[in-house]
Amino acid sequence: QHRLTQEIIDNIPSAVYIKDLEGRYMVVNKKLCEIFGMTPQELLTHRDADLFQNDNVQNFRFANEQVILHRSMVTYEDVVMRNGVKHYYWVVKFPLLNSAGEVQNICGLATDITERKENELQLMQATRAAERARSAQESFLANMSHEIRTPMNGIMGMSNLLLSSPLDPEQRDYTENILESARHLLAIINDILDFSKIKSGKFRFEHIPFKLRHAISKALIPLQFKAEEKLIELKVEVDDMVPEVLMGDPLRLQQILINLVGNALKFTSQGGVYVLARCGEVHAGVCDLEITVSDTGIGIPADKLEMIFESFTQNNANTSRKYGGTGLGLAIVKQLVELQRGKVWVKSQLGIGSTFGFRIEYNISNMPGEMF
Ligand code: ADP
Repeated sequence: QHRLTQEIIDNIPSAVYIKDLEGRYMVVNKKLCEIFGMTPQELLTHRDADLFQNDNVQNFRFANEQVILHRSMVTYEDVVMRNGVKHYYWVVKFPLLNSAGEVQNICGLATDITERKENELQLMQATRAAERARSAQESFLANMSHEIRTPMNGIMGMSNLLLSSPLDPEQRDYTENILESARHLLAIINDILDFSKIKSGKFRFEHIPFKLRHAISKALIPLQFKAEEKLIELKVEVDDMVPEVLMGDPLRLQQILINLVGNALKFTSQGGVYVLARCGEVHAGVCDLEITVSDTGIGIPADKLEMIFESFTQNNANTSRKYGGTGLGLAIVKQLVELQRGKVWVKSQLGIGSTFGFRIEYNISNMPGEMF
C-alpha cells in the first residue's frame, strides 16, 4: 500500500509532501525532488530553512500554524526565487489527524502556476498600456477640438460680418457657402468634443427646473427650416399629461432631440418626421418621459440596428458619401441617455421608416422653470 501511495503521488504533476510538526519532511514526491535536484533520501534530511529563503520559510510557518490552529485546509500563493528565476506556486495545505483527532502531520501540495501568472501579468500590463493610450487619445481629441473651435468661430463671425456688408450676388453666394461649411465643420467638432468628454468621464449634467414644451420647440426651430427646405413635414406633439416644468438638463435633452430629429430629416426625402413626447406613470413627483422620433425615410436593415449606436458606425460605406456625417450622433445620444439612467431604442423597416425612442426619468418641479 505504501508503494502504491508513493507511486500515485509521484505521478501528480505538483510537488507533494508530508511534514511533521517540527517541519521535517516525512514523505516527498518525484516532482519535489526534481525541483531541488535531490534524491528523496537527501531531501528527507532537510528542513525548510536549508532549502528556502527567509520570506518563504516565514510564509510556510504561518500557513502551518493556521492549519494546526483551525485544523482545516489553508490555500495561498507564494513566490519562490530559484537560480535567479521567479516561480509562482499555488499552495494547498491540510492537516493529517491521528486516531485521537489531533494534528499529527501536515500535507502540502504546491502547483507551479508561473506560466499562468506571467500571462496574467502581461495581460494586466497590456491593459494598462491600452488604457493609457486610450486616455492620451481622448485628451488629444478633446484638446484638438477645443483648439479648432476658436478659429472656426472667427471664420463664422467674419463671414457674418462680410454678409452684412455690400456684396455682389456672386460674392454673397461664396460667403454663404463659407458660412455653411464652417457651421457643418463646427457641428462635427462639437460632436467629437462631446464624445471625447463623455468617454473621459468629464461630462456633467445640470439639474435645474425647465419648461419642457419650450425646450422642445426651441430645439426644433432650425430643423423646421430644414424640413421646409426638403418639403417634408415635421410635427411635434406633447401629451397633455406631461408636466409643465421638469428638473434636469434641458440642453442635453435638446442635444438628444436635435441628433435624432436631424438624422430623421437627413434620411427622409418624402413624408414626414413626427416627434411625440409623453409620460409613463407619474408617481412620487417623477415623470417617466418618453420621446419618440418617427420618420418615413430609408429605414435601417435589421442586421445593422444593433451597431448603429456604436461610435463611428454608419449603416454602410455609401452613407457617408451620400448623406455626410461622422457616425458619432447616435453614440452621443446613447451615452447622454444612459448617463441620465435612461434607455434608448430603435425600430425600423427598410424602405418604410424608423422610430427612435428614449426614456429618461425627470423629477417634476413646482418652480417657475427656466426657458431654454
Ligand atoms: P451620422 O448620422 O453622423 O452618420 P449617427 O450615429 O447619427 O451618425 O447615425 C449612424 C448611422 O445610423 C447613420 O449613418 C445611418 O446609417 C443610420 N441612421 C441613423 N438614423 C437614421 C434614420 N432616422 N433613418 C435611417 N438611418 C439612420
